[in-house]
Amino acid sequence: MTSVTTKSRIQEYLSSHSDSPTLNASEIGRKVGTSRQRVCQILEDLGEDRHKRSVKALQHVCPVCDKKISRNAKHCKEHSIVRQDRQEGFNYMCRSCHQYKPLELFAKSARHFSGYETRCLDCKAEWQRRYNRTRKGKESHLKANRKSAQKHPERIRAYYQVYKAVRRGDLIKPSVCEERNCSNTTVRATHVDYHRPLAVRWLCALHAKRNTSVRSGHIPNQLEEQFRDYVFTQIDHTNSATRWINALKNHFNGAEISYSLLLDAINSSYPIPGLGRQFRIKARHFLDNVIKSLD
Ligand SMILES: [Zn+2]
Ligand SMILES: [Zn+2]
Ligand SMILES: [Zn+2]
Repeated sequence: MTSVTTKSRIQEYLSSHSDSPTLNASEIGRKVGTSRQRVCQILEDLGEDRHKRSVKALQHVCPVCDKKISRNAKHCKEHSIVRQDRQEGFNYMCRSCHQYKPLELFAKSARHFSGYETRCLDCKAEWQRRYNRTRKGKESHLKANRKSAQKHPERIRAYYQVYKAVRRGDLIKPSVCEERNCSNTTVRATHVDYHRPLAVRWLCALHAKRNTSVRSGHIPNQLEEQFRDYVFTQIDHTNSATRWINALKNHFNGAEISYSLLLDAINSSYPIPGLGRQFRIKARHFLDNVIKSLD
């Protein structure tokens, strides 16, 4: 059996290197004629740990306090020369394009020592664009989009309303960012409140990113969500609920969907545009069965 001979040859190697502080698994692999992975496996079986990287790393110590440090470090965290923290209002060099740019053009990052990435947003975007064109990039992009859509359906709905309004000509996309002193020409609709999908500010990517605090606090309207879910189980057509809710909001001047509002719409003596017989049936059934059963 080959594994036995491999093992015995490794044991042979070990007995001749019993006093060396570290073992190089790749080197042993080359000598014995097997892969590094196999060597590691066998060394593991033999109870050896001199080939492990962590052991190697911990052999280095800080010259000041004798604390164990990684292989590439010169001092421990405490004794290394602390680089100056990055400050707003100063320019820093992008490691990728080598241009000096203000700090706000660098993405924040918890992984970096300074708290900011070393490449500027433009370079990051360029990299992202290139990554998104690869197969792996496309897959992860799609996955992220689906996940976000599942978590925040109101966002997708709001953006869809904006898209339709722009197509109808109700909303006009400006050619420049609305933030003061910004001349970026690539703008996107930024919502303040997803309950008012057409109340948008047109901002560039940078300023849209900096205005997220309002949007993250979205509180979904419970009744509206229930109504959507109900309609979706009744009619296998995702758009019906949205059409009706928009018609309701249009008719009642953008009021929130409530029990009394639905009741008013059902019992209205005159026809409301967009809310036909089908709506009355479904909405009445919803109020009578779904909402009543919750109490
Ligand atoms: Zn130290
Ligand atoms: Zn750059
Ligand atoms: Zn801007």
